[in-house]
Parts: sequence; C-alpha cells; structure tokens
Amino acid sequence: MNKQFKLESLVRENIRNLSPYSTARDEARGEVNVFLDANESPYANGGYNRYPDPHQKELKKRIGVIKGINPENIFLGNGSDEAIDLIYRVFCTPGKDNVVSISPTYGMYSVCGHINDVEVREVPLDEDFNLPVEALLKACDRKTKVIFLCSPNNPTGNAFPTEDILRIVESFKGIVVLDEAYADFSSKGSLRKYIYEYDNLIILQTFSKAYGLAALRLGMAFAQKDIIAYFSKVKYPYNINKSTQDLVSAAILKPITVNTAHTISQRGTMARFLSRLDIVEKIYPSEANFLLVKFYDADKVYDYLISKGIIVRNRSHVPGCRNCLRITVGTQKENIKTLEYLMEYDKSDIR
Ligand SMILES: *Cc1c(COP(=O)(O)O)cnc(C)c1O
Repeated sequence: MNKQFKLESLVRENIRNLSPYSTARDEARGEVNVFLDANESPYANGGYNRYPDPHQKELKKRIGVIKGINPENIFLGNGSDEAIDLIYRVFCTPGKDNVVSISPTYGMYSVCGHINDVEVREVPLDEDFNLPVEALLKACDRKTKVIFLCSPNNPTGNAFPTEDILRIVESFKGIVVLDEAYADFSSKGSLRKYIYEYDNLIILQTFSKAYGLAALRLGMAFAQKDIIAYFSKVKYPYNINKSTQDLVSAAILKPITVNTAHTISQRGTMARFLSRLDIVEKIYPSEANFLLVKFYDADKVYDYLISKGIIVRNRSHVPGCRNCLRITVGTQKENIKTLEYLMEYDKSDIR
C-alpha cells in the first residue's frame, strides 16, 4: 500500500466536478423492449442499427475471467492509445502539470503529452537499458502526476525487474502507469494482480500484439475502481463499436499460447542467425515479439531491406538506439527470407 496516495487530490478539478453524458438507456429502470429514445433507425440489419453497449458489460465479463480481474477494475479503449490519452485528460492540467517517462520508450506517451500541453520529462535508461529508479524519482516534483513505464519496453525489448518497478510504485505518490503491451511474450509475465495492492498503479494491455487483433482497436487498462470510474466518465460514450465488442468476445475464447510460443521460439532462432553476421554489432536481449539489433551501419541495412520489399523499424536516430533497427518476429517463412537477404548482404561488397 502506498500511504501517501490520495486519488481525489490528483484528479483535475474540472474532471472531479464533471457530470458525464448519460444515455436514456442508463436512466431507464425495468425491462424495455421498444427503443424510441436514441433516434436510431428501427430497421433491423443484424444489430448494427442500434448503438453499442457503452459499458461493454459482456466483453468486460469475459476479459475479466481470462485476466483474473473484476469487471469494475477494467477500462476498455479504442486501443491502449485511448487509455494513454485519458490518463492525461483525467490527471494533468495543461500548461501546469508534468509527467515523467523513460527514454527510449513508446512514442505515444510523449506525443499525447504534447497534444495535451503537458511537459514530458524523459529520463534516459542506461547503456544496457536498465531502469534508473533513483533518477526517475528525482525527476519528479510537486507537479508530477504520472510516471510512465513500459515493460517489456518498446523499442529496447527488455523487461524490468519486478522489484524495481514496485519500488517506484511504492515511493511515488502519484500515478504509475505500467504498459504491458508485450507481457504475453515475457518470461516475467504480468504485474496486473498488483492493482489490488497498489491504488496508484494502472496496468495497460492490448489486443493488438499477442492476440493478433490490431485492426479491431481494443486496449485495456486495469486499476482500482475509482480510477476506472473516472476514465468511464471522460471517455466518448460509445468508444468501442459493436463489431469490435462481438469479434473480440468470440476471439478470446481461443487460446493464443500456440502462436505466442512459436513467436518466442522464432525470436531465439533469429537472434542466433543474426549474431553470426559481420554487419551486426549486437543483439539486445528481448522479452517481446521483436528484436532490437545494433548494426555497424543501420541506415544502409534499412535501405537495403526496403529495396528487397522488407520493412523494419529504423530506430537508429532515437537517443540511446544509435544504429539500431527494431525487427518484428514474423512467420518462419518471413524470418527465413529476411535472414537470407541479410546473409547475402553480409557477404556482398555493396555494404
Ligand atoms: C503496440 C503498443 C501498444 C498498442 O497500442 P494499441 O493502441 O492498443 O494498438 C501499446 N503500448 C506499446 C508500448 C506498444 O508498443
């Protein structure tokens, strides 16, 4: 328990005092079966003529079972990106408050901060991408509302030790966001159960990576129920469309373990083959579905791969990632094709 934490004093005053938009169906009591309240079309077309459930009750129930989290502790957003934006809008007063994040990390924390006119203080990871616990805490002041952490981290691929993360959660009296987009690929697993121990912890997860549903745009935030209630109050009423609710409800009945295990094994194979190439300086250890690879001349390798029809993420101009490409683990066939081209390039004299 973090005893210094007081949720009400962190939430922006205008949000604390907000009375949210309420739908007629929220206000109605009893069984209703004629819907003349929302100016929808009455003509049935497979359920799409009606507005979707703004509370996503069925979907939250199913996600709750799979994740071992109560529905009241779940927020669902149009991607995790919606949750990141809501964190700013609920906690950070523009032009006044600030947040602290690590660097390098996922770009949306800083982009969202700038859109919301909130200062983002970036604290660099060390050379081996370890979490600088003391430096992060030292970067905070009275106006720091949120610390953003990402583990396994994008683009570095490493997962931070649980005790380092929890030390920040315990020491900081504001909100700690832990983005676990890649937790399904990590031997360290998820810390989501800690939301029941720490009132200031928000865990983010997504259906875009291990679940293979990036096109449906569904992200999750897990936190104490009062935080979830603030998110629900601020979000667009119908933020998750009906086809996403229905398709994800059906998809989560199918386990992802086979694909995830395959990706993890392919990650190891790719790392072994890449390490034999003269063009490769270093492969960073990864707990995610990608490898961060340091080349001697990343820009040239990047352009070469593009010329072969293969796109990877060029991170070589990101601070801390000089000469690095982030390579997603694909299917076995895609990985072999990529490795074959890189081996050819390694031997050629165009490099
Ligand atoms: C890919 C990714 C996400 C996913 O965002 P969605 O909006 O849910 O698709 C979130 N966080 C990190 C760190 C990511 O790399």
